[in-house]
Amino acid sequence: MITVDTVLLKLASRCNLDCGYCYVYHMGDDAWRTQPKRMSPAVLEAVAARLGELGAAQGRGFSVVLHGGEPLLVGTVRFAEICRTLRRTLPPSCALHLQTNGVLLSDGILATCAACDVGVSISVDGPAAIHDRHRTDHRGGPSHGRVMAGIERLLAHPAGPSLFTGVLAVVDLASDPADVYAFLKATGAPSIDFLYRDGNNDVLPVGKASLVSAEYGEWMGRLLDVYLADPKPTRVRVLDDMLKLLLGGEARKEGVGLNEYGIIVIDTDGSVNKNDTLKSAFGAADRFATGWSVLTHDLRAVVRSPEFVAYHHSQRPAAPACLGCRDLTVCGAGMPAHRWSRENGFANPSVFCADQRYLIDQMRRHLARHKLAA
Ligand code: SF4
Repeated sequence: MITVDTVLLKLASRCNLDCGYCYVYHMGDDAWRTQPKRMSPAVLEAVAARLGELGAAQGRGFSVVLHGGEPLLVGTVRFAEICRTLRRTLPPSCALHLQTNGVLLSDGILATCAACDVGVSISVDGPAAIHDRHRTDHRGGPSHGRVMAGIERLLAHPAGPSLFTGVLAVVDLASDPADVYAFLKATGAPSIDFLYRDGNNDVLPVGKASLVSAEYGEWMGRLLDVYLADPKPTRVRVLDDMLKLLLGGEARKEGVGLNEYGIIVIDTDGSVNKNDTLKSAFGAADRFATGWSVLTHDLRAVVRSPEFVAYHHSQRPAAPACLGCRDLTVCGAGMPAHRWSRENGFANPSVFCADQRYLIDQMRRHLARHKLAA
């Protein structure tokens, strides 16, 4: 049986922000419109029971990420009920995480996070001038002030420093990576992670001039220089993962390296879906043909099914260029969503191929300078 590492639980299908680059609402997949706005108590009970069975069967815990849309749209009382239900039903080895835009992070929510041991990761792209370019509310207004107030509230809570797992930023090529890193470090987050703007071999990510240009790689390369020169760095997850892979170690998260991750997404209606980042490739790319739901299906049977196994194995690089690439063990051919083209499906190099090569070369140079083999 495939081991599930991560379950994304969509507590809410809508968001209180309207970030221009969001793959859920602005990349051609409109499935959110037909989803219940919030996960109902009946669906949540079924989710908890199914995940409890799955956790017991695989004998190993997984991370349950409370996700959306914006998961905190369920409200303080319901959020507490959800976390208590999950904690009561899931094996103790399962971790609970909240991925939030931070705007609705109240003392009541934090009390639940502390009581139920829910780690908190907050999406913030950098200083206000960078963050508010894309992370706006539904009237086009800025959100940075409210996000930072959420982070302050989190850190002011007695359990805050231990609950705060990190910040997640989307790269804006117009920004200076040194400014972004300094700002995100100053938030007090224990870890920083970066995502690229979504795109694929047919639709280039914003800022990329062509498949052979390396704008994102150059931005990350400048970030790498700043990071490695910092005597007291805050961990940058994606850089650490790539450096570890270059040195023969393992990555911790999807997107780099050749580890395969067992990822399930459960929507507000209880439907069981693939990694939701696939939505950025084409409409309904994240849907299984079988149409599983926690209301009617046992997750142990789902993960054993040929369709789920095929989805799991679709993470494996398939393009001939990747299979012969010297950087494959570090790059891993990138996220499946970023490999897409209408002509070849997912059997392409990542749209960020040139970026990954550029960045990996720069890492090799840094490691060589420090006489570390790579
Ligand atoms: S996407 Fe490019 S860098 Fe990555 S493995 Fe494939 S060919 Fe190599």
